[in-house]
Amino acid sequence: MKTDELARRGPQEVLNQSPVLEDYNLLEQDAPLREGLTREGAEWAMPMAGEFGEMVGKAENLEHGRLANAHPPTLHTHDRFGNRVDEVRFHPAWHELLKLGIAYGNHAMPWTTDQPGAHVARAAMSMMRHQLDEGSSCPLTMTFASIPTLRALPSLAEEWEPRILSTEYDSRFVPAYLKRGVLIGMAMTERQGGSDVRSNTTRAAPIGRGGPGSEYSITGHKWFCSAPMCDAFFVLAQTPGGLSCFFMPRFKPDGSLNRFHIQRLKDKLGNRSNASSEVEFHGAYGLMVGDIGEGVRTIIEMVRHTRLDCAFGSAATMRRAVAEATHHAHHRFAFDRSLSSHPLMKNVLADLCLESEAATALSLRLARSFDESPNDPQQASFCRIATAIGKYWMGKRAISVVAEALECLGGNGYVEEGPLARLYRDVPLNSLWEGSGNIQCLDVLRSLNKDPAAGNALLTEIRNAMGSNPMYDRFVEFLEKELQSSEDLEPRARRVVEWMALALQGSLLVQHAPNPVADAFCASRLAGDQAFGFGTLPPGTDFDAIIERARPKLD
Ligand SMILES: Cc1cc2nc3c(=O)[nH]c(=O)nc-3n(C[C@H](O)[C@H](O)[C@H](O)COP(=O)(O)OP(=O)(O)OC[C@H]3O[C@@H](n4cnc5c(N)ncnc54)[C@H](O)[C@@H]3O)c2cc1C
Repeated sequence: MKTDELARRGPQEVLNQSPVLEDYNLLEQDAPLREGLTREGAEWAMPMAGEFGEMVGKAENLEHGRLANAHPPTLHTHDRFGNRVDEVRFHPAWHELLKLGIAYGNHAMPWTTDQPGAHVARAAMSMMRHQLDEGSSCPLTMTFASIPTLRALPSLAEEWEPRILSTEYDSRFVPAYLKRGVLIGMAMTERQGGSDVRSNTTRAAPIGRGGPGSEYSITGHKWFCSAPMCDAFFVLAQTPGGLSCFFMPRFKPDGSLNRFHIQRLKDKLGNRSNASSEVEFHGAYGLMVGDIGEGVRTIIEMVRHTRLDCAFGSAATMRRAVAEATHHAHHRFAFDRSLSSHPLMKNVLADLCLESEAATALSLRLARSFDESPNDPQQASFCRIATAIGKYWMGKRAISVVAEALECLGGNGYVEEGPLARLYRDVPLNSLWEGSGNIQCLDVLRSLNKDPAAGNALLTEIRNAMGSNPMYDRFVEFLEKELQSSEDLEPRARRVVEWMALALQGSLLVQHAPNPVADAFCASRLAGDQAFGFGTLPPGTDFDAIIERARPKLD
């Protein structure tokens, strides 16, 4: 609308605001996600994912995401008579979000179907649900990731798995054996050390003879324990034989409350829909899982799976931010034409779209490596190193993407009524928890040192894409040279992991993305002077093709 026409109307008339982005199918409107779902081996899941995409995009579900964050959970430590209850209460919207995710297997799919590509299907669907609310992804992720660790104690798995994998959400705070569905959490971090869990001081004393599968009495604390309303937790505690892993239910087998005391809820920057707590164990009941002294080795299986979710969670947040930014810029006019028709804005939007598409492609490729790992040692090696690379890089990029997408909405981006402000507060978390940035980079180095197959699997993946884009080919040659030098690798780790991530993303885009996307990615990220900010794609880039591929269309 022209400026003079705007001026003729009264102040009460709302003009030139973009329509709310709602009531659209998140799968249908996300070409990279749809293509990746098929490419990485989960085409069979397309009808279910399409149905889910429709559900997730409904205005009422987007509103649940907003409400659950606007009304954070509250802690009730005691009942009115002074008895400890340690219960967390949530807004009804939180329960709706969990019900939706659980009904569609976001917490369980790879363990409930024999279909190949189940991790890919789950990742794609979880990426859509994550766009509603980051906080509720936390218990869904931990519940999904608990299964490999749970199976280290087969009798425990036999008892708990059916309720963990149930597609019924049961929010009641009652013993698990009375429930139709349960959630599982994980608490490792203590006040004196999170990355270095060897410093844990929590102690476990055997109730009987002790050893794997035996009952223990656990005393100590955890400084971070998210989703404390979960029905049971995996925790680490010291024993005379070393740091060991324990399964700690909220209720003891006799139905009485376990001595798991929630001290307080954290007052967090973001992730507000989710409760994160400080807890104390006062002789709490727990079962040893895995061998004595093998706590880290046992729980790391759970951590490995949560890291996948952190990686694709960052990609999902980027997608939501880019969807909002491209949508807004298409509908909003400035200087007599749509924002998205201004050359400099086109450059910013297209650059954000590239980052989002590269993240989606890498996320689904990582998920496939989880699918293939059990039967393919090369994929298992790739999975280990590439998950750390992906978690690090996408976690970092997501923070910048959300900040820039927020600015595309102008002042509206900074206001809590819209989704961008919340995304901005939520977004650093996936980089921080489950092993922060440096820890991921050090993990990549550890993989390279301990398992030569990991480096080879990574290079094989990257080399496979050579031959179609000279910029990509030159970058791979450069990376190979860099990797030959092991000197000073630790202080250089972030830079090296960054290059690995770019090569992995480039490999996927040059093979599978449309030419404007692949060419612009290589030109801006792999060749020439790499810029720090967004909106720095070289002239000649097909901005419109890149933006229109990403922009959700409501009509
Ligand atoms: C909202 C929220 C929820 C959480 N929920 C849970 C939960 O449910 N369960 C749970 O167990 N934990 C949880 N955490 C804890 C989280 O996983 C830890 O905070 C994280 O692992 C870092 O540990 P730390 O805070 O002790 O920091 P530190 O370990 O002290 O690390 C501080 C910084 O130093 C860096 N660093 C550490 N070691 C090295 C090294 N060798 N070289 C270079 N740099 C290094 C780290 O990367 C980090 O940047 C949660 C955290 C948050 C913020």
